[in-house]
Amino acid sequence: MKSHVRVAVIGGGVVGCSVLYHLTKAGWKDVVLIERDELTSGSTWHAAGGMHTINLDPNVAKLQQYTINLYKEIEEISGQSCGVHITGGLMLAGTPERLDWLKQVHARGRYLGLETEFVSLEEAQRLFPLMEKKYFVGALYDPIEGHVDPSGVTHAYAKAARVKGAEIYRFTRVEALEPQSDGGWRVITDKGALHAEHVVNAGGLWAREVGRMVGLELPVLAMEHQYLISEEIPEVKSSAREMLHVIDFEGEIYMRQEGSGMLMGTYERAGVPWSERTTPWDFAHELLPPDLDRIAPSLEVGFKHYPPIERAGIKKVINGPFTFAPDGNPVVGPVRGLRNYWAACGVMAGFSQGGGVGLTLANWMVEGDPGADVWAMDVARFGDWTTMAYTNAKVRENYSRRFRIRFPNEELPAARPLRTTPVYDRLKERGAFFGVSFGLEHALWFAPDGTTPSEEVTFRRSNAHGAVGEECRAVREAVGLMEISTYAKYEVTGAGAEAWLSRLLVNHMPEAGRIVLAPMLSPSGKLIGDFTVAKLSAERFYVFGSGIAEDYHMRWFEAHLPEKGGRVRPLRAELVGFSLAGPRARALLERLSHADVSNAAFPFLAFREVELGMIPAKVGRITFTGDLGYEIWVAVDYQQALYDDIIAAGRELGLRHFGARALNSLRLEKSFGTWAREFRPIYGPFEAGLGRFVDLSKNDFIGRDAALREKESGPQRRLVGFAVEDNGADALGDEPVWHDGRVVGWITSGGFAHHLGKSLALGYIPAALAAAEDGFEIEILGERRPAKPARAPHFDPQGRRMRG
Ligand SMILES: Cc1cc2nc3c(=O)[nH]c(=O)nc-3n(C[C@H](O)[C@H](O)[C@H](O)COP(=O)(O)OP(=O)(O)OC[C@H]3O[C@@H](n4cnc5c(N)ncnc54)[C@H](O)[C@@H]3O)c2cc1C
Repeated sequence: MKSHVRVAVIGGGVVGCSVLYHLTKAGWKDVVLIERDELTSGSTWHAAGGMHTINLDPNVAKLQQYTINLYKEIEEISGQSCGVHITGGLMLAGTPERLDWLKQVHARGRYLGLETEFVSLEEAQRLFPLMEKKYFVGALYDPIEGHVDPSGVTHAYAKAARVKGAEIYRFTRVEALEPQSDGGWRVITDKGALHAEHVVNAGGLWAREVGRMVGLELPVLAMEHQYLISEEIPEVKSSAREMLHVIDFEGEIYMRQEGSGMLMGTYERAGVPWSERTTPWDFAHELLPPDLDRIAPSLEVGFKHYPPIERAGIKKVINGPFTFAPDGNPVVGPVRGLRNYWAACGVMAGFSQGGGVGLTLANWMVEGDPGADVWAMDVARFGDWTTMAYTNAKVRENYSRRFRIRFPNEELPAARPLRTTPVYDRLKERGAFFGVSFGLEHALWFAPDGTTPSEEVTFRRSNAHGAVGEECRAVREAVGLMEISTYAKYEVTGAGAEAWLSRLLVNHMPEAGRIVLAPMLSPSGKLIGDFTVAKLSAERFYVFGSGIAEDYHMRWFEAHLPEKGGRVRPLRAELVGFSLAGPRARALLERLSHADVSNAAFPFLAFREVELGMIPAKVGRITFTGDLGYEIWVAVDYQQALYDDIIAAGRELGLRHFGARALNSLRLEKSFGTWAREFRPIYGPFEAGLGRFVDLSKNDFIGRDAALREKESGPQRRLVGFAVEDNGADALGDEPVWHDGRVVGWITSGGFAHHLGKSLALGYIPAALAAAEDGFEIEILGERRPAKPARAPHFDPQGRRMRG
């Protein structure tokens, strides 16, 4: 064993071997993999080996496409077969809702370059003769689906990595990890110790244990998973071509050919976790006892939908565990607060995702940037609320819903409510329908008096449409109140605070008592944050950003903190807030405070400490609605009193609560982009329409050179607002944008603009088309709807309402 290495990858499953290969491919030589047993001895060896490109997140779908295309490359380098069978696949819909869902999948695939196509049920039956077509209403064909040999793939990665200089230590268990003063790790194994600059946790079934070695409780849990292999099926045996891959959503079943029979797996509703607290170290190449009763409801459906499988009977049942994160996507990246400790775990589809995970993690380690938009699998999307019990509840929920539709307006119930603010009960009494953001409950909309806050799930407009419309009208015509505690808030203090923020963010810093909007860029000039910065005094700033990205941003802030003179602290629940918005917002504030809040004394983008009655508050003259508005921030113990005061003062002014749904509608009217939709690390600031916040006269901020290049060469794409000639359904995000019969871009968000009475959307199109007026269409639920680009915000283009 070497004594010093650049990277020690812990775990020789498909994921660890892929990371090892990609590190060598990126040019790092001194890399080793440590495996406690044989390679593949975790969940990898008994996998069904199925692979596909479909993922609800288009960025993950791209990485799945990359993985499948990679097998040829590693076969060539290693000389080891991956046993690739690209059979093509069918996704079968048994209900109209599922067909709507497949239409979305198909539409998204268009701009990703995926070539799915709808086929008739007759054609589906011809392609897959085992099915009974009477149970289905539609079928989507995907040419890039198939299966691989799990062991072959893992060994191909391992051999290809060895060819490029990596070493693999088998039958060697990592027992402890000790941080070293040089930022590296002492990796202590049962065969001796080594010093590694970086460690990668690819521990699969033991990822939690490898996390606990450094005091980390990773949000992953293994579930038992069963598939069966049928006896020989005459129709399969006599078929001239291999059977297709099939996903039958209503049966919650996946299938592929195995020998002359079929392999049929199911994600049953009554899923069972395995090793809920710790994974035994002596588990290797083992299976769990089958439990056919548990999967009987799915099997019954399967046998009905595919009678030849029932006639053939069951030859073998496999039950094995593999890990999931609370949302089912991988858990990848540098872990906040730990130097040179990288996660590559929670990968539930190793043969579709393993390559993409290896590629992005290697990029991140070698280049400092994953090179793709990996938000959907970034370890930083979880926070300290993702405790073991939370993870348990969410993973069970996710497993049981694996093949169920997640509707765009659907709020999943498990593990809730967990984080709440003091006004939660008051908002609930008012009829709030809650969503959850970074673990925190927040109101999405309010049911009118006498009605129940419940919402039907749909791809179209729901029963909340009318209530959300009333909320929007109250903001535009009178005044609205919204809780905004979900925003991330950071306090930045110290003599070096201003210089530090100025180096991190692309805009100049505000004068004391003022606010600026300031994006944040990676060194390659891509958007990694979008903040409002308020300066209270020379050494005290408040920075507000996206709540879901709090850990993501803290990880970046902490990695770039000055050695001394500056401190950043997330305020989380210490500071909670409300937004007041609408033409009567000032009148409402005047009733709460003796301070002069006239336009002259408290102009747009001012930020002050103000006493509101008995309550000390910080107030910013800003709102995301595009109307006159204020954001009020108070310590958490004042929140209820402030809420009661606002309600009392607003009674005669027509004050109404509004929620996140109304905010979305209002901000679309202003074409305001938002983090994780319009602003993501694949866009430059000029593409995203944030160029006016980039102060290139400052000569020293991260990403300046790249931003300058983007400005000089002109952005490749443009963010554009559209008004859509809708047919009762709005764009939601990820729909393709067509121009003159070609897919040219994609939608980032959409919805109904209640004040204007129109369906609106925001999306990216090539810069060359930015001036085009006609010929655009947006594909919504399979229908191409004409759309008109808007050169200016649809509502109040001069911004008079905000400034007035
Ligand atoms: C029944 C079943 C069917 C499946 N079907 C499919 C499918 O069709 N398609 C698909 O894509 N996926 C499928 N999967 C999931 C797939 O198996 C996983 O996505 C994949 O195996 C995850 O690989 P991994 O490398 O993350 O974890 P693992 O395979 O668990 O590997 C982790 C490795 O780390 C080693 N290790 C852990 N801790 C230490 C330590 N301290 N020191 C040294 N070594 C350590 C372990 O020994 C192990 O070899 C299936 C899984 C099961 C159980």
